[in-house]
Amino acid sequence: MKVTASAPAKINLQLSVGGLRADGYHDLVTVYQALDLKDEVSLTERADGMGIQCISLGEFNSGVPSDDTNLAVRAARLVADQVGVSCDLSIEITKRIPVAAGLAGGSADAAAALVAAAELYGYGGNLQLLAAQLGSDIGFSFLGGTALGTSRGEVVVPVMSRGEYWWVIMSASNGLSTPRVYQKLDQLRDEGAVKEPMQMQPKQELLQALLSGSANQLATQLTNDLQPAALAIAPKLQRVIDAAMDDGALAALVAGSGPTCVALVKDYEHALDVAARISGQNVASRVLISRAPASGAEIVSIERG
Ligand code: ATP
Repeated sequence: MKVTASAPAKINLQLSVGGLRADGYHDLVTVYQALDLKDEVSLTERADGMGIQCISLGEFNSGVPSDDTNLAVRAARLVADQVGVSCDLSIEITKRIPVAAGLAGGSADAAAALVAAAELYGYGGNLQLLAAQLGSDIGFSFLGGTALGTSRGEVVVPVMSRGEYWWVIMSASNGLSTPRVYQKLDQLRDEGAVKEPMQMQPKQELLQALLSGSANQLATQLTNDLQPAALAIAPKLQRVIDAAMDDGALAALVAGSGPTCVALVKDYEHALDVAARISGQNVASRVLISRAPASGAEIVSIERG
């Protein structure tokens, strides 16, 4: 039997980062939105005792581990453990989400693998709980849409959002390590260069903007506490943001921990226009267009051998 599932990339419309916790994580209040930029994960059963073989295909497969550190492998194994069966699988990941980009591509693969493995092994337990065990963003990759994330991001509840939004996604060729960006933020705060957030709450104006369905309103409410830290490590990202604004974007910011930058635009036509202008300026290694919000992890196909 072969089961294929997909899961989306995410962006953070609000990313408020609190202090460092005793467990090494930071408290977060974040509003996630899922992009219709999706990876696919296929799980095919292998003969008993053959174990797991994992390969990645597609444009963005470089830098994706094929061993047990791959989040899709860990997710499939977790479901097999819950059911009490040995995990003998061929795992094929079609990467469309850039790697180490701040778009939670690994989390998407884990969420897709959870859904596919649950189908394959007939697991009826709570996948959201398993997602939270595996990583901070995986619960949202599983849920999709627009959602509020708290704690370290793994506690997610849906947020009302009207209409659709168009984003231009501007990739950089070099990844930024997420832990390094958080460390830089702590350092900037210790030095007094960046303030801690006054309160760790979802921004009411942002939630109102999402209810209005107006991209213009949403554009005034986007925030990312990690942006100063990402820019301190990779100052060139400011050129990407400036280029997007010069080219007519409604707003532009670093996506999560970067190095991807995202620009909110009016509609599809505007997205094409802004993307074409940015592509001509040599500031981003790859420019994509994406619509949001998109669905969470879901089964794409089931083939019975
Ligand atoms: P984070 O979730 O840490 O913010 P990110 O969204 O910036 O990460 P990812 O594409 O998830 O970036 O990759 C981060 C790292 O996770 C990669 O460098 C890679 O070593 C590891 N990784 C594990 N599994 C995967 C996977 N299936 N796809 C991509 N990267 C993976």
